[in-house]
Amino acid sequence: KSDLILAVNDVLANDQTHHRYIIKDLLGQGTFGQVAKCWSEDRDCFVAVKVIKNQPAYHQQAIVEVSILDMLNSKFDPEDNHQIVRMIEHFYYQEHLCIVFEMLGVNLFELLKANNFKGFSLNLIRTFTKQILKALALLRDAGIIHCDVKPENILLTTSPGSAEIKLIDFGSACREDRTVYSYIQSRFYRSPEVVLGHAYTTAIDMWSLGCVAAELFLGLPLFPAQSQYDLLQRLMKVLGGKPPDFILRYAKNTSKYFKIGRAPNEESVLMGERQHSSYQFLMPDDIRLRENEAPVIGRHYFPEDWDLEKLITSYHMKRGMSEEEIKRESSRRLVFVDFLKGLVDMDPLKRWTPNQAEQHPFLTEAPFTGPFQPPQDVPRLPIRQVMNMDHNPVTGHWF
Ligand code: ADP
Ligand code: MG
Repeated sequence: KSDLILAVNDVLANDQTHHRYIIKDLLGQGTFGQVAKCWSEDRDCFVAVKVIKNQPAYHQQAIVEVSILDMLNSKFDPEDNHQIVRMIEHFYYQEHLCIVFEMLGVNLFELLKANNFKGFSLNLIRTFTKQILKALALLRDAGIIHCDVKPENILLTTSPGSAEIKLIDFGSACREDRTVYSYIQSRFYRSPEVVLGHAYTTAIDMWSLGCVAAELFLGLPLFPAQSQYDLLQRLMKVLGGKPPDFILRYAKNTSKYFKIGRAPNEESVLMGERQHSSYQFLMPDDIRLRENEAPVIGRHYFPEDWDLEKLITSYHMKRGMSEEEIKRESSRRLVFVDFLKGLVDMDPLKRWTPNQAEQHPFLTEAPFTGPFQPPQDVPRLPIRQVMNMDHNPVTGHWF
């Protein structure tokens, strides 16, 4: 049987450590399996247990999740101050891999919903963003790409009254030198290089963070795209311009969305000529944009103003702010828009790293004197030097 039927008061027992987890509630269900809120008899506290389906693909990916979290927790974040969920242990229960996590609270999507999708204050967004950057800075040092940064995977901790959050769900994560999947990230938060099927790096998580930060302000996703084509169209409109030439040139899906001025012949390629640098975005009639559509259709709304800054401004107005308030807020908004632009940069090589983003006036609250130019970031150590991931903590074997 690939899936266990979990019920309240069932016990998940680790036969080796004899730890017992009594199911108190079911928190979530996904394709991978189920997450249960459990009472840990041995630790006298609640925990979240992810029970993975007994199927090779899910099991294999869960092993990667365990390996990556084990390494991040113990090697890179032993003091637990980088806003990454703690994994307590893992074990097999009736041939199902069970991963035990510290118990966290609601996710940021649920929080936005509880606030009727009106968005949060810039102060709260600053608090959240700083914490996610802390997590992403650590991932960059570790050479790990999360691959699924979105509001649903950012959870409040349960410490009362604080706005502390943690990054969860390393079920899609990978090593930067082992990017085997090309269909990754949730669509609204998917970077242009991934849409186009180009090679990718930890910079894709920074793109997602930019989308998340904007959503925390707007209350709705920045790019609520219904297809990959729609996504490319939206981000070119909002950001102005196409993905950089080198991405279009080397990505494997470019021809699905763009046509080239003149096909390069073998000779011109050999000569290194860049004659195919004039890419034109395809406009199939059936997906043509509905320009003057009402702004909100479920989560798939069409903004009246496509420019990032206008988009942010118009949402402030819709939120019922007075002219005066909007004016007073306008300088703060400008700083925020400048911050977003550094994250949702279509060029992954120019997109800010976590350390660069952390120095932006939106976060440091230093005076804003015009578009932020971050200092160069320090290059990372070669991945093999910083970690030894060839050990599989689940099986005790080496990959
Ligand atoms: P997936 O997204 O692959 O289905 P997640 O790891 O994101 O799996 O878990 C699914 C859901 O279960 C989360 O969105 C969250 O609501 C809940 N959940 C996961 N881990 C925890 C945790 N440590 N504490 C509380 N809830 C959790
Ligand atoms: Mg998830």
